[in-house]
Amino acid sequence: MHLTKVYKQHVAVNDINLKIKAGRMTAILGPNGAGKSTLIKLLIGQLTPTAGTVEMNRTRQPGVVFQGSVLDDALTVEENLRLRAQQYRDVPKQRVAELRVQLGLTSFFHQRYGTLSEGQKRRVDIARALLNHPEILFLDEPTTGLDIQTRTVIWQLLHDLQQREGLTIVLTTHYLDEADTADNVYIMTNGRVCSHGSAAEIKQRYGRPQLVLTVAPNAQPTVLATLVQTEFHVTGNQVICLPTDMASAIQILTICQPNLLDFEYRPSSLNDAFMALTGKELT
Ligand code: ADP
Ligand code: MG
Repeated sequence: MHLTKVYKQHVAVNDINLKIKAGRMTAILGPNGAGKSTLIKLLIGQLTPTAGTVEMNRTRQPGVVFQGSVLDDALTVEENLRLRAQQYRDVPKQRVAELRVQLGLTSFFHQRYGTLSEGQKRRVDIARALLNHPEILFLDEPTTGLDIQTRTVIWQLLHDLQQREGLTIVLTTHYLDEADTADNVYIMTNGRVCSHGSAAEIKQRYGRPQLVLTVAPNAQPTVLATLVQTEFHVTGNQVICLPTDMASAIQILTICQPNLLDFEYRPSSLNDAFMALTGKELT
């Protein structure tokens, strides 16, 4: 560990320590240029670290899905997978059929890869990476460029693989909302890990829930006078409070109730946490 990768002058990965838990899903989050792809390439041994080492207990080669596909547009899904299966020594005959069912490829199995939708292509790419039954699967931004529904489908598929097959999954993403339930999250900026934990822990540590109060204009001074212990700001007839926790949000609501027209409680998100950590929004 203590992984570092320097490209000429640029430090792309700066002294990173990472523990991948077997059978779990690890999400590496960060904006473009954070060093995510470089880190993945170091982990799979495609790049040699400038400093540090990677220790991995494994017997089979890891499965890898990169952003650009390696499959042939002119061949069907089945032809692509069969051809790739031959490149391994010990892929059993039924493995392609198994993956067809597991990844839901049946309806487009005999269609040419080049004619598939992006979401379908991604599923075939994942099937290809699983041909030799790897214990660990690395995916670099598997959901980038997909619409939100398709992203959800791919994410669910990966969760299922992790839970049902006990597959260890390491993936990168710049969509913070995707990692919202992940139990092992690393947030990366500028080549460094700036936070690590479960999504819930990170949100609790850095995110702040918001309580948005809509109050009648003449009641605003009364409401503001009660917010002595709470950070807030005012926009129009809305008072946006940053209570420290849910209990204090309930307290604020109780006190202000007679003067409220409406309210909204927004639990803290990974995006809030990211903003608190880096001072900028991830887009
Ligand atoms: P991410 O995947 O998070 O977008 P990358 O790992 O691709 O980030 O890149 C991290 C940084 O390293 C970027 O500033 C990028 O420009 C730089 N970089 C990536 N690959 C190379 C390379 N082969 N040579 C020089 N610089 C590179
Ligand atoms: Mg990348």
